[in-house]
Amino acid sequence: MKIIDRLKEDRIHISFEVFPPKTDAGVDNVMRATDRIAELRPDFISVTYGAGGGTSRNTAKIAKHIKEDLGVESLAHLTCASSTKDEVRGVISNLKELGIENILALRGDIPADQPFPTEDRFHYAYELVEEIRRSGDFCIGAACYPEGHVENEHKEDDIKFLKQKVDSGVDFLTTQMFFDNDIHYNFLYRIREAGITVPVLPGIMPITSAKQMKRSLELSGTVFPRRFQAILDRFGDYPNAMEQAGIAYATDQIIDLLANGVKNIHIYSMNKPETAEAIMRNLSEIIKC
Ligand code: FAD
Repeated sequence: MKIIDRLKEDRIHISFEVFPPKTDAGVDNVMRATDRIAELRPDFISVTYGAGGGTSRNTAKIAKHIKEDLGVESLAHLTCASSTKDEVRGVISNLKELGIENILALRGDIPADQPFPTEDRFHYAYELVEEIRRSGDFCIGAACYPEGHVENEHKEDDIKFLKQKVDSGVDFLTTQMFFDNDIHYNFLYRIREAGITVPVLPGIMPITSAKQMKRSLELSGTVFPRRFQAILDRFGDYPNAMEQAGIAYATDQIIDLLANGVKNIHIYSMNKPETAEAIMRNLSEIIKC
């Protein structure tokens, strides 16, 4: 089923995310974690895409497993910056053959130490969106950044380019992680003003360790509010306490979003079923409302 059709239903939708292992050897572990997350019956599970090699191959494999064997809809991520156009077309046609109906179209990060080739590449995600649209009847998601994308100094340009991306055929958007909901509400207001009307799924990352926080900061450049920083300062050295506090913080963020009328939540559960389970336990009555 296309995710956009599910999002049109007037109810709360919850989705989770897993990432493939770096080598084929880790596939079984990821499959086991995915199986447990699927038992929570989310609306879909997304599978991230690494540039080249085993990771990208395994994205399709895991997405097919989620859809066919576990009976949960899947969303396969696809990046274009580190592959030729023909390689990208090959991945799209493989996803089509496997019966995958939903793709999250991304540019991917450009390695800082390598010049970005001008020939034979899709340079921005909107070009990939156009290519996927030409290639078949897919539901297409794309990324957006409530705090602005790290490469773009001007937030207005970011929104202008986001509009271009959505107009090229995007059905829904998923946000980069954020830890202050006011930033999200402000972003929603600005993109709606700019005429972007597709559903936006806020991406919530439960931070359960100090190491994970450092990594998230490097990846997203997000701002950690004082309230979150205090939790980390106080509990960061106590793994069990930090895990509990991180889950509580993410739950609190989700409850606030739902209370303010948001209907769709994407949880960056990564490959941690216990985190996904704990959050769903915390929300068990809330998501029935
Ligand atoms: P784009 O939308 O192409 O934007 C990239 C930059 O170019 C932005 O600064 C934008 O403002 C600018 N821009 C866009 N269009 C134009 C234009 N026409 N002219 C000039 N500038 C322009 N990475 C992975 O490797 N694998 C994943 O699975 C993955 N999943 C992700 C999921 C989500 C929800 C998010 C938020 C990010 C994910 N990423 C993933 C990271 C993502 O690949 C990077 O953030 C990347 O740097 C940007 O990708 P994008 O698709 O947003 O790019």
